Formats: sequence, C-alpha cells, structure tokens
Amino acid sequence: MKRFGSSWERRKFLLAVGLASTLGSLRPGNLYGAYLAGRHGESYRALGVRPLINAAGTYTTLTGSVIPPEVREAMAEASRYFVPLIELQRAVGEQITKMLGVEAALVSAGAASSITLATAACVTRGDPGKVRRIPDTTGMKDEVIMPKSHRMGFDHAARAVGVKIVEVETPEELEKAINEKTAMLFFVHIFEHRGKINRNHFIAAGKRHNIPVFNDAAAELPPMTNLSAIVGEGFDMVCFSGGKGLRGPQASGLLIGRKDLIEWAHANNNPHSDTIGRGMKVGKEEIMGLLKAVEIYHKRDHEYDQKQWRGFMKRVAKIVGDVPSIGTEVYVPGPGGHPIPYLRVKWDQRKLGLSYSECYKALQDGEPRIEVNNTESGLELASYNLFPGEERIVGMRLREILLDAARKA
Ligand SMILES: *Cc1c(COP(=O)(O)O)cnc(C)c1O
Repeated sequence: MKRFGSSWERRKFLLAVGLASTLGSLRPGNLYGAYLAGRHGESYRALGVRPLINAAGTYTTLTGSVIPPEVREAMAEASRYFVPLIELQRAVGEQITKMLGVEAALVSAGAASSITLATAACVTRGDPGKVRRIPDTTGMKDEVIMPKSHRMGFDHAARAVGVKIVEVETPEELEKAINEKTAMLFFVHIFEHRGKINRNHFIAAGKRHNIPVFNDAAAELPPMTNLSAIVGEGFDMVCFSGGKGLRGPQASGLLIGRKDLIEWAHANNNPHSDTIGRGMKVGKEEIMGLLKAVEIYHKRDHEYDQKQWRGFMKRVAKIVGDVPSIGTEVYVPGPGGHPIPYLRVKWDQRKLGLSYSECYKALQDGEPRIEVNNTESGLELASYNLFPGEERIVGMRLREILLDAARKA
C-alpha cells in the first residue's frame, strides 16, 4: 500500500476514489477510503492524539478550521524574518481596513481577546495611567450593559478588564440602565433572536448617550459581507474569530471599528508590557496568516462553497438512505445558527437498538475518528469543515454502524 506523504496527496486520492467508486465498491467492511483516512496526521498520532474528520462545525475545541495552503505559505514566509512588530500590526491593520472599506482594524489573538481589547479601549479611552491600572477600575467608567439573554462564557473576556456586567431585558430597561459609569454596550450577534432587544435598539441607545456599542460576531462568517456590514449598520466595534469561518490561524482574530476606539485598543495591546493585552500576543506568522485569510475570503466564490457543501450533505444522505427507518434532512439552521447546509440523520432508536449517543460515540471511537453533533432530534452534520471525499467516508462509516446495529437488532 502506497503511503500518502501529505494530507493534500491523501485528499486528491480520496477525491479520485470517491469519483471512481460506486456504493458497491465502497461497501461497509471494505472501507478503503476510511483506511486511507486513518493514515493521516502522523505527528498527532505519535503523541497518542487521533486527528478527526470534522462534520461537527467550527468549534474552537476541535481547532476551529484548517488553514488553506495559501495561508500556510504566508505563515511560513513570515516565519523566516525579523520585523518590527508594531509596524507590522499597523500595516496589516491598514491593509485590512482598505480591503474591507471600514474605518480601522486590528489583528488580535482571537475573538475573545478582541472582546477584552474592545472593553479595555472603552474603559481607558487610551489614558496611559488607566491602561496600566486595569483591571483595577477605581474612578473609571466600569459598567458594561448586556441583554440578559446574551450572557455567555465569553463575556468573561470583558469582565477580565474589571468591569461589572449590567443585565437588561427590554429597551426601556436598557435606557434606564445607562448612566455616567457605562463604558460600553455589549451585543452578541448570534443571540439577537433570543431577547426583546434588537440591534437597532442597541445602536440607537449607544448613539443617544454617546456610548460605544460592541458586537461579538465571532462565528458570523459566512456571509462574507458581515466583515463590513455589521459596522456599516452602526455598531462601533465588531469582532470575528480568525480561526472559524475565515479559515485563518486559530490563534488570531479581528477587531474592526471606529478609528479612535481601535487606537485605544492598540494602547491596551501587546507588545506593550504593562497592558491587559500583553498576554494575548499575536506572532508575525499569525498576523500575516490572517491577512492572507481575509484576502482569500474576500475573493472567494461563496456561491460555489454553498453548492459544494449542499452536495456533501446530499451525498451523505444518499449513502445512508437504505438503512431501515432512516430519515434525513438537509437544512440551513434558522436564527442563531450558521447559514450553511447541515444534515440531520434520525432513525428509530428502538428498532435499530442503537441510540443517537451510542452512534455518536461509535463515530468518535472508530477509525477514522469522526465528529458530528449529537442532539435529541438526531445526529447533526455540518458541511463547512469537510474536505472533498471526506463526506463519502462519513456516510459509509455512519451506514456501517447503523447497518451493523440493524443486523444485531
Ligand atoms: C468562538 C467564539 C468566541 C471566541 O472566539 P476565539 O476566536 O476562539 O477567541 C467568542 N464569542 C463567540 C460568540 C464565539 O462563537
């Protein structure tokens, strides 16, 4: 058996296998593709960590996304030279600013670090004494207002600055909560549908009281237009993960927004040692990698992506189609979900003697390791992080597990 040197070769081969094969030649028990997939990620395997096929989505705990070759090359090229870091931060910020047609942009260590920098910008307003003193916010504006339904683990990144989060549930409560201590209004894009406060209430309140309004849109790509549209709507700052939809380095992110605010974020940022952002250092490799990722993402054929992703999900559905009691549905999640094709797979758990959780675990434990989402209404597969060919492996492996259960039942 020929060994596949690079994952790219492996993927080309899988694609060829996939195109040339019919269901017949990729029978369960003859998982040729699965065997090949088992050979990749040797450096991880040497540590006893098995890499995985990601049909779950852009989860930070699964390392977000895989950078495209152009980004990999940009990072390798960047790694060869010394460069003044502050000059690089500024130049890349400007380049991204121009590309997106926004006021200002900064490359951070991730969306969570963008949240900290944005909050620090609003609390300190760039005052050097305040920059040095936080998270001791004595004598500073140190309240951040959030819709109660937007509270989440990531608001810890704002609390790290020393602020208190004030929760509100209605536009009236929002208006009443604003006072001379309010530093920032904090909105979480994906939770907009959850509460009574929408983006217009939030933006308008910020404008009325001259308080910066921040939007955490970490995972809101696609659509690509969000990169500039969210600040275009009136938010003063917005953040994105570099390592989710953008397919940049996982340890990178963007903070986009008003020039004065981004300037104050810089004041709180590394490489300056006496700042809250010092521990959120972004290396030249990540900075150049993210720049390339934004460039590619901006030019990408997003319609083609959607077609390809839908094709992946349809193919999995087709492969598992002959399993007794199976039901499949290709769908795009509504509000609060990502606008990409997913596949829901359900079956009669009693009839097959196999629960969704057991199947989920079998997918994880098998070779190749496969990650999906385990929910009460079935297994949910995301198309976004699949490479061409992998959808066949996912389909065949799922079919194998289900048919095995059906035979024993
Ligand atoms: C992923 C995520 C973050 C954190 O993003 P990182 O780039 O990993 O720091 C913050 N907020 C939301 C809503 C997210 O989905």
